[in-house]
Order: sequence, then C-alpha cells, then structure tokens
Amino acid sequence: RRPGSAGVDLQRAKLRLSLQEHLWAFYRERVLIPAQEQAQARRAALDICAELRVFLHAKLPDMPLREMFLSGSLYDDLQVVTADHAQLMVPLILEKNLWSSVPGEDTIMNIPGFWLVRRENMEYFPRGSSYWDRCLVGGYLSPKSVLEVFDKLVTGSINWPAIGSVLDYVIRPVVPSETLTLEVQYETDRRLYVDFLPLLVMEDGVSLIAKPHRLAAERHQNLWRQSFRVAETARLRALDQEDGGCRCVCLKVAKAVCKLNAPLTRLNAGQLTNALLLLSESEGDWTQEALAHRFLQLLRALVGHLEAGRLPCALSPKVNLFCELTAQEVDELGYTLYCALSDPESLLRT
Ligand code: GDP
Repeated sequence: RRPGSAGVDLQRAKLRLSLQEHLWAFYRERVLIPAQEQAQARRAALDICAELRVFLHAKLPDMPLREMFLSGSLYDDLQVVTADHAQLMVPLILEKNLWSSVPGEDTIMNIPGFWLVRRENMEYFPRGSSYWDRCLVGGYLSPKSVLEVFDKLVTGSINWPAIGSVLDYVIRPVVPSETLTLEVQYETDRRLYVDFLPLLVMEDGVSLIAKPHRLAAERHQNLWRQSFRVAETARLRALDQEDGGCRCVCLKVAKAVCKLNAPLTRLNAGQLTNALLLLSESEGDWTQEALAHRFLQLLRALVGHLEAGRLPCALSPKVNLFCELTAQEVDELGYTLYCALSDPESLLRT
C-alpha cells in the first residue's frame, strides 16, 4: 500500500456514503408522490374513463372494443415527482381470420419491435366485413387512422365543458398532440394528462399499441409498436420481491433524475427499466445499502449502451430501445451522463 492510500479509501467511502444518503433523501423528498395526490389523480382518471365508456357504448354500440382500462406508472406505484399522467388503454377486437401481424424485421423497414397488421382473406371477406376496415391503408390496419377515429369522437363529439362542470374538472383535448391526449385540471394547480392508447392483443400474445414511431417517415406510418411494459414491469417487481431489493427505488430515482434534468428528458421509463433488468442479470446485490453503487453502475451502463448506440430490450434482445433517438441525441445523452459519473450528486441538485 502506498502511504496515504488508506486515507484516500476512507475519503472515497465517505463520498459513497454521502451519495447513498443523498439518494435516499432525494427519493423521499423529490421522487415520492404524496398518497393523497396520487389518489386524487387516479380518481380524476377514473371519472374520465367512466364518462368515455358510457359515451362510446351509447354512441357507437357496434364498435368492437373490449372494456377500456387505465394503466401506467400511476397504477404500478412507479410514477415520480408529480402525479400528472396516465394511459387509457382502448383494446380493439380484431377478427382472428381477417387480420395477421407481420414483425418489423420481416418488412422492408426492418425494425424489430414494430409490426404491421395485415388484412387477410379479402377475396372471401371483402372490405367492410370487419368494422376496422375503415382504418385500412394500403392493405394494413393504420394506427394513425385508428387514432383519427377516436380523435373525431373525443375531440369532436363529446361535450367536455359540460362533463367537466358536472365532475368539477376543467377538461380539454390537447391539440396538437402526437397521440390523443386529454388534459384534466382537477385542482387549480394540478393537471393530469390522459393518453388514449388503442391496443391490439394478437393471437400469439403480442401486445401492439398505436403509438407512432418517433422519427415517423411516411413509410413508418402503418407501424404498430410492440409493448413490453406489462412484462418488464412485472419482472422488475418480481426480482425485488425475491430478495427485498431496491431495483424499483433505483428505477424511480433514475426516472426522477431524467424528468428533472432537461438534457436527460429523452430517456424514458422503458429504456431505464430495461437497462436495470440487464444490470440485474450480472449484479446480485440489490440490498438497500447498495443503492448508490447500483445507481452509479446504472449510469455507467447507460453510458456504455449510448456509446454502442444500442440498448437491447431485456425481453426481446433484437429490439433496440435507442432506435428512435437521433445520433445527436445519443451523443448529448451520453455526454451528460458521462460527466455525471464524476459528480453524480449534480443530478440530484434540481
Ligand atoms: P412514465 O410515463 O415515465 O411514468 O412511465 P410509464 O411506465 O407509465 O410508461 C408510460 C409510457 O409507456 C407511455 O409513453 C406509453 O405510451 C408507453 N407504453 C408502452 N406500452 C404501454 C402499456 O402497455 N401500457 C401503458 N400504460 N403505457 C405503455
């Protein structure tokens, strides 16, 4: 040992200790949302969902839908900082013999993680045999066109001011919106954004959502996005339950850091969840005492994935979860996180 190295070690241990303390303080003070705020937001989302169910049943009784339901981090106890958004899932019913799904890697676009939904058996079941034929574009079910059907209904024919005044909220559709979003003001200073998310559950269990490819070129417009959210969230939670681990805490801290630091807002929950799942494969100690180590390791892993330009989905490694970032965004994210490695606490001073 060099003289003095014990001192350096001690100093390092102290730094670690204080990062550990800072992370837990940040978690308690910034990340966690008060139970009452969450309950209010959930109540508002539920009221809107109930109104929409009644409206759709009455107005379009023959539209083949399963019951709509609410989902997202607000319902998995994974929302952070403020209770401000939820997804309203709208499951479409597709006739098994009339539709098939084509994986993105088998198309000229060659994008794993996205799918085309092709209309089959046109010769025996001509156009019009399926309700959803009205959303066909070039022989494929168009998520954009499906969203437009709901957009017309939700923004065009529902009297939101009237419903809002009954429920004591201010409700308005957000325009323009990439998907279809309602803004619900449920307190003078509290807003909840509810995203409409049409959903297809295909025969092989693949879940597809109508959320467009971010860098949507014309030819990408018919692509449905495969959703792994339910399975990956369940896996993370199960791992924590097995060993009393802090993976979900680590995820929430990372989500809050990305929400509160402008250069990191491009990193989303799916990417962070998968980076954590991949890290869990090689790292066993997720005790509460290890939070700072694991958090730093997560940052390092993200820098590595960004350098490679590739973050494989833990449940389907051919899917690259960075495929919708531009090269410049990848560089900027990588740079910000790389700088943070030497001063991780800077991420918490927001
Ligand atoms: P948060 O928005 O960062 O709190 O993270 P969530 O875990 O709530 O993820 C919500 C995001 O995931 C939204 O952008 C959704 O469009 C997307 N998403 C993908 N698949 C699903 C799904 O099956 N359910 C929900 N609720 N959202 C999904």
